[in-house]
Amino acid sequence: MKNFEGVKVLNNKALHRITYGLYIVTSQKGDRFNGQIANTVFQISNAPPTIAVSINKQNLTHEFIKESGIFAVSVLSQEAPLSLVGHFGFKSGREVDKLAGIESKPTPAGLPYVTDSTLAWMEAKLSAEADAGTHTIFIGQLTGAEVLKEGLPMTYAFYQQVKRGTVPKTAPTYTPKEEKTADMDKYVCNICGYVYDPEQGDPDSGIQPGTPFDKLPDDWQCPVCGAGKEEFTKENK
Ligand code: FE
Repeated sequence: MKNFEGVKVLNNKALHRITYGLYIVTSQKGDRFNGQIANTVFQISNAPPTIAVSINKQNLTHEFIKESGIFAVSVLSQEAPLSLVGHFGFKSGREVDKLAGIESKPTPAGLPYVTDSTLAWMEAKLSAEADAGTHTIFIGQLTGAEVLKEGLPMTYAFYQQVKRGTVPKTAPTYTPKEEKTADMDKYVCNICGYVYDPEQGDPDSGIQPGTPFDKLPDDWQCPVCGAGKEEFTKENK
């Protein structure tokens, strides 16, 4: 056993170098269903096929998986709109039926998997769980799985860097930004943290690049969580 007492370096930014995907995890309690976004789905073993997901204990999906002992995973494609991620990621199943109005089909055990903007689904039966403080790691053996279509799965980095429209400085296509005028300020959503960048616009909602925040239509909504313009404040420089 190594002695860690001498360790003096703990840079949390190292954690940002871990890569993730983006998934919708669904489960049920009685005849109610719920789903949420998770980035921590991963395969543990191939014989038998086993996956795991880490879910916050405060989430309704956590309660549902505990109750039913089954969960399903829908793998998001890169084409998934921000609004779909926002719907499952920034709303609580305690307030809205998150599956209502969403295109879905049942897995063999009857859990909904999302068919819109997804590449594959999996259904798993709980085989073990690990208490991890704020989260529980649910481990499940696959009881069903299917590929829905070809395409690239959404990664967390793609969601953050590309869907938001910015390009990392390390990218070959990166060009330094010019001095900005006042009306090209970025605005931050107070609810979910999404940043509206006028240089990028909001192509999913038909907002062209170069549209200042105050020129957005009055009914424009945060593409991630659906909040109105009044929930936005100018980004601090
Ligand atoms: Fe938002």
